[in-house]
This record gives sequence, C-alpha cells and structure tokens, in this order.
Amino acid sequence: MKLLLVEDEPDLQEITVKRLRSDGYIVDACGDGVTALDFALAANYDGIILDIMLPQLDGLSVLRQLRTKGQTVPVLLLTARDSIEDRVKGLDAGADDYLIKPFSYAELSARIRALMRRQTTEIASEMLQYEDLVMDLSARTVKRDGKNIVLTQREFALLEVLLRNKEIVLTRDKIEQQIYDFGFEGGSNVIDVYIRYLRKKIDQDFKPKLIHTVRGTGYVLRTGD
Ligand code: CA
Repeated sequence: MKLLLVEDEPDLQEITVKRLRSDGYIVDACGDGVTALDFALAANYDGIILDIMLPQLDGLSVLRQLRTKGQTVPVLLLTARDSIEDRVKGLDAGADDYLIKPFSYAELSARIRALMRRQTTEIASEMLQYEDLVMDLSARTVKRDGKNIVLTQREFALLEVLLRNKEIVLTRDKIEQQIYDFGFEGGSNVIDVYIRYLRKKIDQDFKPKLIHTVRGTGYVLRTGD
C-alpha cells in the first residue's frame, strides 16, 4: 500500500510518516499543495492523506483538480475542528472521508484501513452491464436475463471489450489491440470466429440481439440496428 501524506506542519508530518512506515505502508510526504498535485498525478497511490490548510494551493483545490483529471484515488482530508464548512466542501469536492485535527494516530490508522477496505471491496465487485447482460469481473461469470452463460477465456475477454465500449463501433483492429494479451493470434479473421461463438451464447436464445455487425467496419454492442 502506497500512501501520500500532505501536511505542512513538519513535526506532525515527520511523526505520522514514521508511524505509517512502521505499520508497513510505503509513504511519500510533502508540505504544500503544488507539490502534492505533482506527486499525486505522477505516482499511483492507494490513498492520499490531505491537509486542507496548505501553502501555495489548499487541500480542497488539490482534491478538486485531482477529481477533474479523473483521479479516483481515495482521499482522507484533515480538517480543523471548527470548520464544518470545510468538511462539507471537502465531501462535495470528492473526499472519501475526513479526520478532525488534532487526531490520534490510532484514529488515523483506523480510517486508512477503512478506506483501503472500501476500495478493495469496490474493485472486487466490479460489474459490467448492458441491458440484461451482466458480467462479474471478479467472479468471471456472465449472465443474460438471469441465466448463467459459460464462456471460454477468449470469449470472456472479447465480451469484456464490447461491454466496456458499449454502443461504440469497434473496428477489428481496435478489438485486437485490446485483447492482444489474451492469446489471440492470427489476424482479424479470428475476431470474426469468436464473435460467432459469442453470438451463439449471448444472442441466439435471447431478445433483443446485442452484438451487431457494422458492415465494412467492425462490431458494436447495442440493442438495435
Ligand atoms: Ca496545515
């Protein structure tokens, strides 16, 4: 677990880093908002502990910019005791939790664990859905209209690409690029073959048809022509 701690009080930063590291976290630390934003955008953190009152760029602005850039990393805000307004603003800006200063290390540690747990649960239950077709990425299962559909690894990979790009026409090349890692080989004809297999399992016994051929282009997952 890699964390970023953004805290401008040197003593608090030092002791917190020390204790987090002794708990087994990998920790980067900085003391201003501009550096925090640089760090957060450059590295892949599992969580950010972000003080609101910071020099150069305050924590709420850092958080807003991260969310604007599509960063979903869990953020725990550190706020002053009397600032309810900051807490509301923080949650509105996309914070996952907040902790009121001064706090005990035990409390911080518990909040971080909760944050990490929540994130793991979300990843573990990742679902892709289109109409009555549901793919569970962690259980590696597919259902249509509530019925289990057994797919091979390659069929599953191909369907995942279609689901992630639902209602977007994909060329065979584009599909190939995205499933390259799944052991497909030998030209775009292979895609056609697996599309045929998928159709048999996904569409043959169900309505409406979801896999459509776009002539001269490729394939698309959608409900109508
Ligand atoms: Ca501060």
